[in-house]
Amino acid sequence: MKIHNTLTQQLEELIPLEGNRVRIYTCGPTVYNFAHIGNFRAYIFEDLLRRAIKRFGYELTQVMNLTDVDDKTIAGALKAGVPLNTFTATFKSAFFDDLKTLNIEPAEHYPAATDHIPAMIGMIQSLLDKKHAYQSDDGSIYFSVASFPSYGKLAHLDMAGMRPGARVQHDEYEKENVADFALWKAWDEKDGAVAWDAPWGRGRPGWHIECSAMATQYLGESFDLHTGGVDNIFPHHEDEIAQSESASGKPYVRYWMHCAHLVVDGRKMSKSLGNFYTLRDILSRGFTGRETRYVLMAGHYRQSLNFSFDALTAARSALQRLDEFQDRLVGVAKNANIEQSTLNVQHSTGSNSHPSLDVRCSMLTVECSNSLLLPDWADAARVKFDAGLADDLNISESLAALFDMVHAGNRAMDAKALKGEQAAAVRSLLASFDLVLGVLEKPREEIPDGALKLLELRQEARKAKNWAESDRVRDELAAQGWLIQDTPQGAKLKRK
Ligand code: AMP
Ligand code: ZN
Repeated sequence: MKIHNTLTQQLEELIPLEGNRVRIYTCGPTVYNFAHIGNFRAYIFEDLLRRAIKRFGYELTQVMNLTDVDDKTIAGALKAGVPLNTFTATFKSAFFDDLKTLNIEPAEHYPAATDHIPAMIGMIQSLLDKKHAYQSDDGSIYFSVASFPSYGKLAHLDMAGMRPGARVQHDEYEKENVADFALWKAWDEKDGAVAWDAPWGRGRPGWHIECSAMATQYLGESFDLHTGGVDNIFPHHEDEIAQSESASGKPYVRYWMHCAHLVVDGRKMSKSLGNFYTLRDILSRGFTGRETRYVLMAGHYRQSLNFSFDALTAARSALQRLDEFQDRLVGVAKNANIEQSTLNVQHSTGSNSHPSLDVRCSMLTVECSNSLLLPDWADAARVKFDAGLADDLNISESLAALFDMVHAGNRAMDAKALKGEQAAAVRSLLASFDLVLGVLEKPREEIPDGALKLLELRQEARKAKNWAESDRVRDELAAQGWLIQDTPQGAKLKRK
């Protein structure tokens, strides 16, 4: 699998540092508000990456941190007049709900910064001991950028114009203001009750050291892959490298991957610009998590993606086409009395669940055993789907393979040229694609009991050849928003 490394600006083969396990650190949300769908573009890119890595047979440990103490969370808690952890708890739990709605696989670890202060203090102490850090007059500790000659290697900065000795207290600043940055901020009244004791005085960690300390604790001093949005490259990830490599004396991360922004009218979707939608905003307009996931996933991660409601509507049509295709395959297989065992594979990985390696292996075995049954056009789609993923997550190519397959499959079914076993094999191939895409499984619609009762009444009326009653019930269901579909498997209800 080839990935684009921000550090080298090259496509490189992904080779784990140790054995077959890829260790990934992903910068998670700052829990001071509901995450917006720009943030979720980053998390969906990382989810696609994670799922693709697993498809190619690697094991994986992914860590996503929760930034629950920083300038923004403290300001939010102070404004709300509640303790910091009460303030952040709401947004942490909303975040996990949103991950489920978007069918994002859980990471292996979600460390919260406030639970790891001792690790941060330890790393800062080691930077002080090695003279990479110093204390300023107000008691804060700063990283000395001049002490790390390769500073700027990730963001590819030209360091010639740097002003030595300049210092920056805020976590976020522009490249033009490269400066010594805060590792530890001495307490001041703006921090309220938020403070921890450290050997050099009371205060709290800076944002950058949080990620370095948590990544090292869970993944070691050197690990494989670090991800985030492009806005994280500078200063956040640049500062992480400086701190971590100065503390350990070892290379910090081998590959860095960054996704481009979700934009609205050409500008980054962000809270500070006020041009953002939360997932809740999208759901309240009648779109689903599945449709949102499709939109955020369907553009290549290194290209900026323009958000629009039209894109959500287009996603709805694309998904409908995929659903209809799957229904047709199931119909063909069932007509040929093909056992459900192969078709059901998909359910064992149900939406929001976390497919275990065992399930995945059995999936691949099913795929392998079925690949003998696959028509040529489906086998070609399988090869192209994987080639796309292996080419730096070229999702457009993988989705094109999928839709080529739908087209060819529909034509084969129109011509009654697809055998039952073949239909089942194609369906199980789709299920294995969905271990990566996470959008193909139809959410099961909850049909209210009242509507199901009416459907039964209609069936009884038809048996009794009481057509007037059957029509009346059909109209009543229609008034409630349900259409009756007579299928070879019996009558079913579908949303109008
Ligand atoms: P934050 O909560 O601001 O620390 O951001 C969490 C993640 O979302 C980071 O990886 C950011 O780079 C990413 N992010 C923020 N805004 C956008 C956007 N408009 N498009 C894509 N990623 C974003
Ligand atoms: Zn981070």
